[in-house]
Order: sequence, then structure tokens, then C-alpha cells
Amino acid sequence: RIVYLNGEYLPEDKAKVSIFDRGFVMGDAVYEVTAVVGRKLLDFAGHEARLTRSLGEIGIENPFAEGELLAIHRELLARNDIEDGGIYLQVSRGNPGDRDFVFPDPAVVKPTVVLYTQSKPGVLQSESALHGVRVISVPELRWHRRDIKTVQLLYPSMAKMMAKKAHVDDAWFVEDGFVTEGSSNNVYIVKDGVIITRPLSTDILHGITRAALLRYVAETQIAVEERPFTIAEAQAADESFLTSASSFVTPVVEVDGVAVGTGKPGPIAQRLREIYIEEALKAGI
Ligand code: PMP
Repeated sequence: RIVYLNGEYLPEDKAKVSIFDRGFVMGDAVYEVTAVVGRKLLDFAGHEARLTRSLGEIGIENPFAEGELLAIHRELLARNDIEDGGIYLQVSRGNPGDRDFVFPDPAVVKPTVVLYTQSKPGVLQSESALHGVRVISVPELRWHRRDIKTVQLLYPSMAKMMAKKAHVDDAWFVEDGFVTEGSSNNVYIVKDGVIITRPLSTDILHGITRAALLRYVAETQIAVEERPFTIAEAQAADESFLTSASSFVTPVVEVDGVAVGTGKPGPIAQRLREIYIEEALKAGI
């Protein structure tokens, strides 16, 4: 694989980052994942805009000139001949040369920029899309700025491991009795034909797939109610689903051991997956 590191395209084993890099030592970095389907980038502008916002929120200078990020994405896709999959991008505050809690002077220490491709042939035809996923709830123990897409993914990884141990696919975080989001996705229930999902705040990541899907749904007759919901409501819902750049729209068929609706992917979730994929591919670049 050819990867990108600080302006260079390198074989992956030649791409080296300092042991003092703040991304490594402090988790002081933000990231994005953009899906690639049929050689097209989905929702690229959304991911670029959220990256800019994440960088701004933690005070890392945006290292990209206008148009540069898209050019790097395209170059990596071409060099690695990626048809389906994604591109991972990470920007850390860089290498101050030693360990220090205080941020280095941005005039001296420049961000570390890493991008690499992930090939997933036939990414649209997944088992989880076909059969839906099963989830458990776990306590929400992340920090309170979940709107910033940082690489601090220890607890989400632990949540995934709890799910794995419970022989299910994923975990939903619950705070003050309400679901915030999934370990790496935004979550929804459908009751009496209405889509219910938590409103945007610092409590959740502002999913790019969520934003795109809600834009497309606004063109249909399907109603959306943005409000928090409980695990009991999810278990009593007609349908449930989740969204993320890597899973698009994926049905959720079981929550904490209780089947949602029929226990099979619901018609609205399936239709929304089709709408999202069709529209996102049409808008893809
Ligand atoms: N919430 C969390 C916690 C996530 O990690 C992700 C995936 N990055 C999402 C939501 C979905 O965001 P997006 O649709 O932009 O991939």
C-alpha cells in the first residue's frame, strides 16, 4: 500500500512517525473516514468541513491548502487502485520533541498528516446490511466533547469488545437513561412511520452520513423527530438502524437481547439504505 505522510507518498513500511508525536503520546489528533464506492468518494465535502471544525475546536492549524485534501484523496485512490473501501485521514498536533501537556507553539511544531486507503471489495453487499446487526447497551463513559472527532477511541474500542464478548455486533452508549450513539455510528428508531434520532449537540458526533440521510429524507414523505430515546423505546420500536461512513445505513434488529419489530431489517431502514446509497453515489466525486 502507498500511504501519505506529511507531503510524501510512501510505501507503508517507510512511513514513520516520531515516538514523541502528540497523536501517539496524548491522543492529540483528529480523524476522518470517507467511504469509496465504485471509485467515488461519498460525502467528501461533509468530511472535509467536519475536519476543519474538529481542528478548529482543539486549536490545530489546518494544514491543507484549498483543494489539497481532495487531490491527496484522489492520488491515493489512483496509486492503490481502490474501487471500494475508504480513506482514513488523521491530523495530529505534531512532534514537539518531548512529552509536555502544554501545546507546542504552532509556529514551530507543524501537524502530522497521515492518510491511507482501505480496500473493501463489494462493500455495499455486507452481511450486516442483509441481516441487520444486534447491539447491547453500555454506560456512556466518554468525555463530553463527542462532537470533536478525536482519535481517543479507547472506550469505544472497549465497548466493541463488550459487544464481541456478548456475541453481538455493536454497543450503544446510554447516558442519563437515553441513548447517545453507537460505538462508531449514529442511531435511530422508527415508530409509527416516524424516524426518531437524537438532536445534534456536544453529546454526539455530528455524523456526515446522518446529515446527508436527513437531507434526502426531507425530500420524502417520511417524518423525522429529533429527540433522545431510551433503550426501552428502541426495544418497542417498529424498526431501528444506524448510520456511518463505513456502514452507510444498516438495520438494527436486536437491542439488549430483545428483537426490534419483527427481528428482521425493517422496510423503512431498507428503503433509507437504498435512498442514501443512490443519492450519495449520484453526488459522489
Ligand atoms: N458517531 C461516532 C461515535 C462515530 O465514530 C461515527 C463514525 N465516525 C459516527 C457517529 C458516524 O459518523 P459519519 O457518518 O460521519 O461516519
